[in-house]
Amino acid sequence: MQRTYRSIDIAKLASGLSLSLPLHELVGEAGGPAVGISAAVHGDEGVGVEVIRRLFADSELEELRGRLVLLPVANPLAFQSNTRNTPLDMANLNRVFPGDPDGWLTEQMADVISREFLTRIEVHIDLHAGGLYPIVDYVYQLNAPELSRAFGRRFLYAPPHPYEGTSTEVSGKSAKAVVVELGGGLTAQEPYVELALKGLKNVLRAAGALPGAADAPPAQTLLHRIETVRPHQGGLLLPVVQGVGGRVKAGDVLGRVVSPFTFETLEEMCSPYDGVMILTHPTVHRVEPGDYGYMVGEFATAEPVR
Ligand SMILES: [Zn+2]
Repeated sequence: MQRTYRSIDIAKLASGLSLSLPLHELVGEAGGPAVGISAAVHGDEGVGVEVIRRLFADSELEELRGRLVLLPVANPLAFQSNTRNTPLDMANLNRVFPGDPDGWLTEQMADVISREFLTRIEVHIDLHAGGLYPIVDYVYQLNAPELSRAFGRRFLYAPPHPYEGTSTEVSGKSAKAVVVELGGGLTAQEPYVELALKGLKNVLRAAGALPGAADAPPAQTLLHRIETVRPHQGGLLLPVVQGVGGRVKAGDVLGRVVSPFTFETLEEMCSPYDGVMILTHPTVHRVEPGDYGYMVGEFATAEPVR
């Protein structure tokens, strides 16, 4: 197996530092698919970077079939500032694909990623997480249900109206695309890293990039509706529901926003329906209006995966 590393120049910044993208390419002895795995498209989702680093060091990769391209930090500037968006133009990289070579800096980055990575692979796995404070646990089911299922998480989500400008909008035109949402927040990430590494290797088996049969996934539920409950008041968030995967009833209080000054309750965030917790906050922290509060998957429209 051959490994090469290159960094692709994007631009020189006013600081004099160069902005470039890290790209690892691994080529196996035997033929197989071209698989691309990306992380840190959102800069505050560092757990995916560690998952790719662990995969890179995994001895099973010695049996790689085909080509594996790893983009561990898709937005280096946002990773540096530990923010979701690029600090220099405040744009969300995952809303501007395929990008624009003459556009905002984030659009210029998206253009390079599209040309050098997303359009050169046959399978794309994009690793996301909950960001700085929330934890999350689900996998998008897009154009490759069998690969999304092979990741092995209990809840899959087929969005009725996918976001525009995501990386998989580009890769999904010519490749099988899987978006993973796992881990994040101010909590120990090791369990999520291990789950993601296991899931990734199983997807690689299902795609024919690693030898051996893929493990059958556990009982899974396909969600068709996930509602994001966002706070309307800023303050201190006191989580009531802390874990992901638990059931809630319509009207259940998920968390409270209290004033850090007067201590009065400013808002209660409640579940919009009977469902399952997809994104939660494990710890007390500051929130602003419009932040990610909670995400709840609806049971009434969900279906078991067969
Ligand atoms: Zn993300």
